[in-house]
Amino acid sequence: MLPAVIQPTPDEPQSASDEAHGGALGSRLNWLRAAVLGANDGIVSTAGLVVGVAGATNSRSALLTAGLAGLLAGSMSMAAGEYVSVSTQRDSEEAALDVEKRWLRERPEAELEELTAMLRDRGLSQKVAREAAQQLTERDALTAHARVQLGIDPDELTNPWHAAWASFLAFTVGALLPLLAIVLPPAHLRLTVTVVSVLAALVLTGCSSARLGAARPGRAVVRNVAGGTLAMAVTYGVGSLLGASAV
Ligand SMILES: [Zn+2]
Repeated sequence: MLPAVIQPTPDEPQSASDEAHGGALGSRLNWLRAAVLGANDGIVSTAGLVVGVAGATNSRSALLTAGLAGLLAGSMSMAAGEYVSVSTQRDSEEAALDVEKRWLRERPEAELEELTAMLRDRGLSQKVAREAAQQLTERDALTAHARVQLGIDPDELTNPWHAAWASFLAFTVGALLPLLAIVLPPAHLRLTVTVVSVLAALVLTGCSSARLGAARPGRAVVRNVAGGTLAMAVTYGVGSLLGASAV
C-alpha cells in the first residue's frame, strides 16, 4: 500500500466512506451504488410502463408483453450504454498509460523529477519526496506514475464487459418487481399491489443509495418515491386517456 499522501486525487469528490475505507472498498462501494441505481432505474421505468398499459387495458398478455419488452429494452440499453462509456474511459486510460510508459523509457530523469515534484505538492519535504520517488520508481515506476499522476491503477482498469453485465443484471432485477406485481395478482388487485410494492422498493433503494453515498437517507427517499409516483401517475393518466378513446 502507498502511504495516504500519495494516493491519487480523484476528479470527483469522494464520499466520506470512500475516504475512510480507501481504494478497494471504495471501488466496491461504487459498484454497489451503481447496482442500486441500476435496479432503481429498472423499477421506475418498468413500473411506469406497466401501470400505463394497465390504464388502457385489462389484458394480462398485453401487460406481460409490454413489461417484458420494457425489461429487455431497458436492460440491453443500459448494458450497451455502460459498455460504450467504460470502453471509452478504458481507451483513454490505456492511451495515457502508453504515453507514461514511453516517457519513462525515453526520459527517466525528468520523470523522476516530475514524481518528486508531485509528492512535494502533496506535502512532503524535497528530501523525503525525492527518496520516496526513487523508491517508487525502483519498485514499479509505471504504477507509481499512474497512481500519483493519472489517478488510476494500471492493474485495476474497469472491464467494459463486467460493467455491461452488471448494469444488465441490476436493471433486470429491478424491472422484475413491477412486472411480476402487475401480472401475478388478480385483475382487481394488480394496480394496488404494483403501486404499493414499487413504492416500498423505492424507499429501500433510495435509502441504500443514500447510505452507500454516506448521505442521510431522508431526502433521498422522498425524492426517489416522488419520482416513481410521478412516473406511474403520468403514464397511468396517458394510458387511461388512450384506453378510453380507443373504445
Ligand atoms: Zn510521469
